[in-house]
Amino acid sequence: EKEYEAHMKRIYLDNAATTPVDEEVVKEMVPVFTENYGNPSSIYKEGRDAKKLVEENRAKVADALGAQPNEIFFTGSGTEADNWALKGAARRNKKRGSHIITSAVEHHAILHTAQQLEKEGFDVTYLPVDEYGKVSPEDLKKALRDDTILVSIMMANNEVGTIEPIKEMVEIVKEHNPRTLFHTDAVQAFGNIPVDVKDLGVDLLSVSGHKIYGPKGIGALYIKKGTPVENILQGGAQEKNRRPGTENTASIAGFGKAAEIAKEKLPEHTEHMQKLRDKLIKGVLETVPKSELTGHPEDRLPGNASFIFDYIEGEGILLSLDLAGIAGSSGSACTSGSLDPSHVLLALGLPAGRAHGSLRLTLGRDTTEEDIDYVIEQLGPIVKRLRAMSPLDEAHPIDAAVYEHGDHHHHH
Ligand code: PLP
Repeated sequence: EKEYEAHMKRIYLDNAATTPVDEEVVKEMVPVFTENYGNPSSIYKEGRDAKKLVEENRAKVADALGAQPNEIFFTGSGTEADNWALKGAARRNKKRGSHIITSAVEHHAILHTAQQLEKEGFDVTYLPVDEYGKVSPEDLKKALRDDTILVSIMMANNEVGTIEPIKEMVEIVKEHNPRTLFHTDAVQAFGNIPVDVKDLGVDLLSVSGHKIYGPKGIGALYIKKGTPVENILQGGAQEKNRRPGTENTASIAGFGKAAEIAKEKLPEHTEHMQKLRDKLIKGVLETVPKSELTGHPEDRLPGNASFIFDYIEGEGILLSLDLAGIAGSSGSACTSGSLDPSHVLLALGLPAGRAHGSLRLTLGRDTTEEDIDYVIEQLGPIVKRLRAMSPLDEAHPIDAAVYEHGDHHHHH
C-alpha cells in the first residue's frame, strides 16, 4: 500500500486551507536566509540591505491592494491582523462607544476575538446571513447605533465562498457616521478576486501570505492613514512603532513576491478556476443524488465548490477521497477533534444533521481539467458506498428529531 501511495498522483483541492509556495516565491526567499540575513534595525550595510528588502516588499503588497506603502503593516499571520484590527480599533475608540458589529459567518480569528472583546465590556452584534451566506446591507443599517465604533465583515467566506457586498456596506456605515471604522477580513478574497482598499473604502483590511502561494506565518494589516488603532503587541520600534518584533524578512520577501504575482495573474487565474469550478459543481450535482451546493450560486470565490450530501458525514467522504488521492475539506470541525458542526453552515440555516455532510473543494492555480474529471468520477461511488453503510440512509429512516439535532456519536 505504501508503494501505491508513493506513486499515486495527489489532487490537492484544499487551497482555501493553504496553497503551495510558488517556485518564484521560494527563489526570492532562499537568499534572505543565507545572504541578506541582516536585522533591518541595524545601521550597518547588512541591516540597511534587509531594511531595503522589507520596504520593497511592503510596496509590492501595498500595490496589490491599492494602498500606500505606509499603510501596510506586516504581522505574523492573517489571524494576528484580524486580532489587531478588532482589539486595536475597539480599545482605542472606547471613549466614543462600545458597540461592534460583525457577522455570524466570520473566521474564528474574528469571532473569537469579538467574544474576547465582549468579556472586556464591548457589546457585539452578530449579523445573520441568508441561505446563501450573504449579510444583508439592510440588516447592517438597522444594527448601526450611535455608539457603534467598529464594523467587521469578511470579504469572502472561507467555507462556502460567498462574497459579501463590502463596498455597499461601507457606504452605509460611513453615511451613518464617518468615524465608525470598517474592517474587512480579505484573507480568502486576496489573490482570488480584485481587492482594492480605496475602491472598497475600508479603514482596515487583513490579508495572509499562505493563501496566495506565499509562505505561512506572515500577514499584513492595511491601516488607512490616520485611522485610530491601538497596538496589541508591546516591544521594539519595528513597523513604525506599531508592530514590534524583528521583521520576518524571508517571509516578507516571499509575501511581496506572491502579492506581485497574484496581482499580475489575477484575471487569468480567476478565469481558469471559475471554469473548472463550474464544471465541478455541475458534475457533482448531476452525478450525486441528494447533493446540494452551499454558498451563493454566483457571488462566490472562483475556486470554491462546496456541498452538502444528505445522510452521510463529511469526515467519511474526506477519508474516502484521501484514499483515492484527493485532498479536500469538510466544513464540519470533526477532523480537528471537535464534534461541533460548522458555525457557517448552521448560520445558513442548515440543521446540524445535514451540516455534518459537508464537503469543501477549493481549486488552485495548478488544478487541471483532468483533476476535475477524476474527482467527479470518484465522488459518486464514494457517496453511494457511504450511504449504503450509513444508519441515516433513506432505507433506514431514524427519528427525524435525532437527525435534526445532529446525533453524531454513532461514528465515534
Ligand atoms: N481569515 C480567514 C477568512 C481565513 O480563511 C483564514 C485562514 O484560515 C484566516 C483569517 C487566518 O489566517 P492565518 O492562517 O494566516 O492566520
